[in-house]
Amino acid sequence: MVEHTQRARLDYVNTVFVVGSGKGGVGKSTVSVNLAVALAQRGASVGLLDGDAYGPSIPLMLGVRKRAASQGTGAVLPLAERKEIAPEKKLQPLLRYGVKVMSVGFFIGEEQAVAPMPDVLGLLIRQLLYSVNWGELDYLIIDLPPGTSEPQATLCREVQLDGAVLVTTPQDIARIDTSKALTMFKNGNVPVLGVIQNMDGFMCPHCGERVEIFPQSREARVQLDDLPLLGRIPLDPSAAAYSDKGYPAVVSMPESPVAQALVDAAEQV
Ligand code: ADP
Repeated sequence: MVEHTQRARLDYVNTVFVVGSGKGGVGKSTVSVNLAVALAQRGASVGLLDGDAYGPSIPLMLGVRKRAASQGTGAVLPLAERKEIAPEKKLQPLLRYGVKVMSVGFFIGEEQAVAPMPDVLGLLIRQLLYSVNWGELDYLIIDLPPGTSEPQATLCREVQLDGAVLVTTPQDIARIDTSKALTMFKNGNVPVLGVIQNMDGFMCPHCGERVEIFPQSREARVQLDDLPLLGRIPLDPSAAAYSDKGYPAVVSMPESPVAQALVDAAEQV
């Protein structure tokens, strides 16, 4: 176990939590966006930091574009000076559905094939924590890339995180990979709040039967089984279609089981 005496508390935010997964494509960004908007709908002041440089999808999911984010001076100052950066010199987050949004995607092209090197990702996330004019926040949600590399390592080492939410599908392989992320957070002394199981079944619109999408033998008993289950979100093609157009489920289809599960999960974090 690593000692974390040097971890800094972000003084502008009450609760910082990260959303992580073992595998890509399980719905981590979808969950991050909807949790953020659901918390904002409850009246909280919320920041959402998209730290997934390999697939920064949050701008798309919220219908925001890089150019809009470059307003303000865009100053990214050396870390040593970070505490002295005046608010007006900081990067301005975008406001969408009541959520302040910043993404590493604003700094790399939408279709750029090459993601920054891992060590750069650690630097970038630090800069975005300290060089963005977040104001005072009740919650800062950080959407992490899948896996256990950077910027996860930098965050676990340097920042006091109040909790981690893990997202997986019911598939064994996703659950096994997500267990590795769990181990990383445990080793970093980050409290794991629970698991959200996404794409958990599909209600056939024709026959009304529930269909399981992924093979799940459950032979692989993984550590995830011992965590609180914060929600089970069904697969719903309309949720994907709305999301691609910039409308999160909790906004575009609030009565749906997808949105309801996400609102319930937001109440538990
Ligand atoms: P990750 O962040 O884990 O890579 P995303 O949140 O980007 O995953 O989701 C991957 C794709 O799956 C997106 O197109 C998203 O709209 C879609 N998706 C996520 N959850 C659901 C769901 N419950 N029903 C339908 N589509 C979903």
